[in-house]
Amino acid sequence: MSDFQSVVAVKLTRKPHRCSHCCRVIQVGESALNIAYRRDGEFHAYYVHPDCDEALRDHCTTYSEFFTDGWPWLHELEKEDLEALRDRHPIAISRLDRSAAPPVNRLGTVSAEQNAINAREREQKREENQ
Ligand SMILES: [Zn+2]
Repeated sequence: MSDFQSVVAVKLTRKPHRCSHCCRVIQVGESALNIAYRRDGEFHAYYVHPDCDEALRDHCTTYSEFFTDGWPWLHELEKEDLEALRDRHPIAISRLDRSAAPPVNRLGTVSAEQNAINAREREQKREENQ
């Protein structure tokens, strides 16, 4: 049972955060929701895009009978459920399109793997130009 919850709307973030719903970075200067709660004695806190939160809320209140035990993350929904939300929440749902952009790590910087790929591609281009 949840014994404490706080939702703080951050208008302009000063640090990058990871959105727990879409797993993408909330960039500096974007708005976010900072949600914190305590459940069974454990403290949890996370950031989400406001429209990601709205999309999930829309889905879970529509199908509330399936979510008596708590709500999932937006990225955990089935593909058909996401498609059903796309008309009303186009930006939030487009963030979950796998092909949209390369993944970034928690700090909003490019991951080590992505860095290695970039370096390899730069090396290949250099060789092609010689
Ligand atoms: Zn998001």
